[in-house]
Amino acid sequence: MSCNYLKTYDKKDCNGCGMCALICPKGAITMTKDSEGFLYPVIDKDKCVHCNLCEKRCPNNPSEPNTNQKTYISYCEDSKVKENSASGGMFYPIAKYVVEKNGIVFGVCYDDNLIAHHEYVTTLECLKKFQGSKYVRSDLKDSYRKVEEFLKKGKYVMFTGTPCQCQGLRAFLKKEYDKLITCEIICHANPSPKVLELYKKNLEKLRGKKIKRIWFRSKLNGWKNSTPIIKFEDGTSFEDSSYYRAFVSELINRPSCSDCRFCGPKRYSDFSIGDLWGIDKIDSTIEDNDTGISLLNVNTEKGFKILDKIKAELYLKEVDTNLAFSYNHHQNVPIHKNRDKFFKEISNGTINETNIISKMNQYTKSSLTKRVMRKCKNIIKKIIKKTEVISCQNTKQKKE
Ligand SMILES: Cc1cc2nc3c(=O)[nH]c(=O)nc-3n(C[C@H](O)[C@H](O)[C@H](O)COP(=O)(O)OP(=O)(O)OC[C@H]3O[C@@H](n4cnc5c(N)ncnc54)[C@H](O)[C@@H]3O)c2cc1C
Ligand code: SF4
Ligand code: SF4
Ligand code: SF4
Repeated sequence: MSCNYLKTYDKKDCNGCGMCALICPKGAITMTKDSEGFLYPVIDKDKCVHCNLCEKRCPNNPSEPNTNQKTYISYCEDSKVKENSASGGMFYPIAKYVVEKNGIVFGVCYDDNLIAHHEYVTTLECLKKFQGSKYVRSDLKDSYRKVEEFLKKGKYVMFTGTPCQCQGLRAFLKKEYDKLITCEIICHANPSPKVLELYKKNLEKLRGKKIKRIWFRSKLNGWKNSTPIIKFEDGTSFEDSSYYRAFVSELINRPSCSDCRFCGPKRYSDFSIGDLWGIDKIDSTIEDNDTGISLLNVNTEKGFKILDKIKAELYLKEVDTNLAFSYNHHQNVPIHKNRDKFFKEISNGTINETNIISKMNQYTKSSLTKRVMRKCKNIIKKIIKKTEVISCQNTKQKKE
């Protein structure tokens, strides 16, 4: 497992955190976009003095995860908070705790051109822009440096992001800070920002109007309905799942996500937050009104102390960690078999802003058909099982 992109140049070995570029003493590394739209470190050989610092500190090969962890079925009791959030709204109460301590919260929001990037805020009102999942790789910009600056000034800082981005931050800082709180989302993959750009342009061309916002996890049709909603500047909106399907089919994601070193129940940040999928099978006593239930992992002493301070605002019930993860993303999923072909067609312009939607539909059609077939099979199995139970009961009654 101890593979390093700066040695192997295998894209699966780099999650794009950019830490190496920040710590190189000679400024020899530049994070550069590849033809798929993902950032990778490029070394200027004339500046490099072969000190190996970048290789040694690369966070893509984490050591021991935190073992003192507990997992909770959870949600924020404030229904307004939950409404604006992707899952059970667990991000907000933790962030609120930090803001109320005059702290700083880093998270992912859109800019005016709907490009997802990391930013920091200091007020409760501004936390809203981080709520909701943006299904794309976020540009970290200079967040790691800013986090360090604030910590050195003695401020509380909460950093939220993917597990690899949180691990990148810890590797950059190199030392523990009591006032740093890391909160990672449970993430199964990060799609390409280039694909999202082409998708937005294609939609705007087809509809003849500008997009104002994309809600990847709108709860308009319920938490479990994952069809994204696209809102246009003229106030109209539209549901479309072509991009979402390409994301969950592993067609448009970063290569490192298919060999992720951070997936499953072992966790490294103070908190991990995700969706509590399979709640009906995990705990049927929980009332699920389809407004969002979170999987919350608390992984450190610091995390437990904060949880104790905010627990009055939450619904919390402890659950077995492995059981909770069994219905979520807990192991790596292979990339789509035509992923490379798809990105090659983007590189040579065959797939572009005039046709990417139909191409994504075309490429994911077979996997969609497979999923529908699998669902049908399961339904048939359930019917057979039910019929068997009924006939068994009838035979028993006859005997009696
Ligand atoms: C790309 C992606 C893949 C995901 N895959 C899974 C999964 O497989 N299983 C699962 O259980 N949950 C997954 N999630 C997480 C889930 O969708 C929710 O983000 C999480 O449960 C937090 O929800 P909330 O209601 O507590 O918070 P919300 O209030 O919705 O807060 C959202 C939090 O997510 C962060 N965030 C938003 N977009 C991004 C991004 N692009 N990169 C990094 N951080 C981001 C914000 O900074 C904020 O901290 C994924 C999220 C993303 C962005
Ligand atoms: S430090 Fe980050 S960007 Fe650099 S090689 Fe490692 S994973 Fe990639
Ligand atoms: S080996 Fe040292 S000098 Fe060369 S790129 Fe890595 S950190 Fe920079
Ligand atoms: S799946 Fe793994 S490598 Fe990909 S963004 Fe998430 S944590 Fe990073």
